[in-house]
Amino acid sequence: MDMKLKGDYFNAKFSHPNGPGAGAQEKILKQCPAELTIDLWEAHIYYDHIEAVIQSAQKGFETWRKLSFNERANYLKKYQEAVRARKDDLAMALALEVGKPLWEAKTEAASVDSKVTVTLADSLDRIRQETIKEVMPKMDGHVVYKPLGPTFIIGPFNFPCHLANGQILASLLAGNSIIFKPSEKTIYSAQIMIECFHEAGFPEGVINFINGTGYTAGTITADKRIRGVYFTGSRGVGMKILDNTYRDLGKLVALELGGKNSSIIHHDTNINHALPELLRACFLTTGQRCTSTSMILVHKKIEQEFISQFKTLTERIRVGHPVKGNDPFMGSLIDQQAQDLYFQFCQFGKNEGAEEIVSPKKLDVGFDGYYVSPSIHYAQKPNIQGKFIQEEIFGPSCFFVPYEDIEEAIAIANSTQYGLAASVFTRDQDIYKLCLRDIESGLLNLNRSTVGATARLPFGGLKDSGNHRPAAVSMIDHCVSTTASLETLDDTSSKISDIVGLKDA
Ligand code: NAD
Repeated sequence: MDMKLKGDYFNAKFSHPNGPGAGAQEKILKQCPAELTIDLWEAHIYYDHIEAVIQSAQKGFETWRKLSFNERANYLKKYQEAVRARKDDLAMALALEVGKPLWEAKTEAASVDSKVTVTLADSLDRIRQETIKEVMPKMDGHVVYKPLGPTFIIGPFNFPCHLANGQILASLLAGNSIIFKPSEKTIYSAQIMIECFHEAGFPEGVINFINGTGYTAGTITADKRIRGVYFTGSRGVGMKILDNTYRDLGKLVALELGGKNSSIIHHDTNINHALPELLRACFLTTGQRCTSTSMILVHKKIEQEFISQFKTLTERIRVGHPVKGNDPFMGSLIDQQAQDLYFQFCQFGKNEGAEEIVSPKKLDVGFDGYYVSPSIHYAQKPNIQGKFIQEEIFGPSCFFVPYEDIEEAIAIANSTQYGLAASVFTRDQDIYKLCLRDIESGLLNLNRSTVGATARLPFGGLKDSGNHRPAAVSMIDHCVSTTASLETLDDTSSKISDIVGLKDA
């Protein structure tokens, strides 16, 4: 696949449609993480485009905000058609840039298409004008949802298209213009989305795209003209964004951050159902999902049987090239740093008293890439303060901890600083209700693992996993400002003589 980068996109044009020019402030060479001998692309970062994209987004906003919902929806549908026509390209680009298996990349490409339908069906009604008749005597009350202005979407590498796409679509439908900065590790797949927006013929300046790293993202984030910042990524960068924006009270900042997610396996559960759920949750995407299950809290009555079967299944996981050969379960990790961190965290686990049931290994799959095997750790009494429990690992690691009382399991699940996703496997509704009440997380599933959220419910984390601005169906709520209006047609009833405390004329 020839991955030619076309530069940034503003004023409805790519800046370097025929390849990069001279004078870039940063250059990024991207190798395929699953086959390091293949250079996928070289990105050139231009700092002077920062001002150009912001001005373009301001101009685009002035046109776009005045369109009706129907007009905006029609542009989104044209984008959906363009995405559908590029689905295979998109999947291949995702597989090669991220290192995820092609079958999995195809599901991400499909969700970019289906998200348009879901956004139009489920989100629009949340921002239509509301009216309360006679909210006060002889007065109707209206709630009007207005777009914010130019908005900035910053994406992570693990779902380069799906996550940003959800935020972009909601922001656009609400009437905002957008600037999208994808992860510097996954620019090409993001560019395909922008090509689809271009093909859909959006008015000039509504869609903007910029390549860059922390400098570019930080500068745009801090700019007063940007009225909404939608970030998906690590807690550390999320904190920097808050530092960078807290003095700008008019800017809405929505953060979707990391997770350290637990599943509770109660003794009454159907193990045959829980095992495949958990295997996928721990290791899909090589453990690089914000919702990946990190800790499995398993009831003592079934721990031996469950762990032994889970270990056998884990050892059957096929790791391989994302697009060459048989479909693997897992592809590669994203880069050298991710690989180093994975081994480092497994070592922390051992240092902090966890037993290694399946050790992490560097794998030779016939291609030079960041291939590792999944690992399993176990501790009777986990070191709650340790890094192994507290930090997000973002690799194929899973940690078993046995429990006797459900309260004990809930306390361990709550002991991390994160609060994104959790789940419980049980046939006991009371246990489920207890977990729903007491586990501190934005998602809590019953008999379903922590991964694979729906776009039709809110999606977001508590504690250090976010800032209470959930995405998915709720995303659009954070793309608007609210104006309340009292309306009366009676312009005769207010009289000076009714005012108390006036001196005689
Ligand atoms: P990251 O935080 O390293 O990078 C994310 C984005 O932030 C990139 O585009 C990067 O260029 C940008 N960035 C870097 N410095 C910045 C700055 N100073 N200001 C603004 N932006 C800056 O994350 P990643 O490694 O790409 O993605 C993995 C992380 O994302 C994990 O922590 C994962 O849990 C999280 N994530 C969360 C969700 C969710 O919905 N909660 C979904 C996917 C991933």
